[in-house]
Amino acid sequence: MWRVRAWHLASWRIIQLVIADVEQLVSPHVRAMQPYTPIVPLDVLSQRLGIAPEAIVKLDANENPYGPSPRALEALARAQDLNLYPDPDQTHLREAIGAFIGVDPAHILCGAGSDEVIALIVHTFVRPEDAILDLPPTFGMYRWQADALNARYVPIPRRADFSIDLDSVQRAVAQTPSPRLLFVADPNNPDGSATSDEVLCELLKLPVIVVLDEAYIEFSGRQSRVRWVLEHPNLIVLRTFSKLAGMAGLRVGYGVFPTQIVAHVWKVKPPYTPNAAGMLAAAAALSDREHLDRSVACLVAERERLRAALSAFSWLRVYPSQANFLLCHVEPTLPIAGGDPSWTAARRLKHALEQRGVLVRYFDKDGLRDCIRISVGKPEHTDRLLAVLREVVG
Ligand SMILES: *Cc1c(COP(=O)(O)O)cnc(C)c1O
Repeated sequence: MWRVRAWHLASWRIIQLVIADVEQLVSPHVRAMQPYTPIVPLDVLSQRLGIAPEAIVKLDANENPYGPSPRALEALARAQDLNLYPDPDQTHLREAIGAFIGVDPAHILCGAGSDEVIALIVHTFVRPEDAILDLPPTFGMYRWQADALNARYVPIPRRADFSIDLDSVQRAVAQTPSPRLLFVADPNNPDGSATSDEVLCELLKLPVIVVLDEAYIEFSGRQSRVRWVLEHPNLIVLRTFSKLAGMAGLRVGYGVFPTQIVAHVWKVKPPYTPNAAGMLAAAAALSDREHLDRSVACLVAERERLRAALSAFSWLRVYPSQANFLLCHVEPTLPIAGGDPSWTAARRLKHALEQRGVLVRYFDKDGLRDCIRISVGKPEHTDRLLAVLREVVG
């Protein structure tokens, strides 16, 4: 009896040791890393809230409610050869994109969303001793990539109005050993502000690669800077099918690179991304310019209607935005029932909206206190949001 017990204890010790040891094998920077907080999928939320998915108004991830062109859906339905690996050179899709943006396909590399292209750029340029410069508050993926690769992360906060503090950027680049990449989202997420040509030109004079993320450029009414890549060897421009083409679920994005850089990025890229379905749908989506233009026009018009309606609430301050979302500052003393008493008013507002099936994004970090971000939906989504806001705040 005693023997069995001792053996049992010993084996348990071994198992405990093994468990402890395997975790010791995880790279220290990954053990210390904060996970990225992605959005909760619709079916999970629907279950949690007890609200049917079709009754949920999803305004939390800047997705395009008009979805892909019917031509993209037809291309998916007709897809052949899905037993074969997709074209690693992305020939057809890169030609379609090249024609669409007016740049030779040799400059273009596609990935599984611009998220993958961001990862590839970091892999190409950054060793752990090198620095990634970031302009927060901004898209969280840049910081996440720096953390995942154990690169040095140098935040250079934007001003209170979200404009770029050029002096601080210049100083940080001068003082940072081995600066490599500077990420600039234009329009910026989460506020929708633009970066002027003048500021971009100054940034391009710095001894870093400027990665200009144009995920929302079509909603700004401004020209893309993709063709600047032809004149600036230290500029990379990112674009995506997620927002413009309503294809976030299919994961297709691309970078436009100077010739000297692009061959190196190909070397670190897994060969078969994006997948065959994503590439087929993306190429077909570009052939339906009318669909793209219409969804952009609808969202821009709706953004302005939403802005006017939200501005009528005295307890919300709406920031200017050139994207398909509006960042709003919530009056901290706003009385809202429900949730935890320790929560800020903005968090209680987000919670109260969620309980009624309207999803928005809440932020609680430097430069974004008391803020929610509302994606622009269809007119009926705006109507529902406004009705729920009136109900919640009374
Ligand atoms: C949504 C978004 C993207 C798009 O990422 P994908 O991986 O292409 O879906 C890229 N950059 C910014 C700033 C975004 O907000």
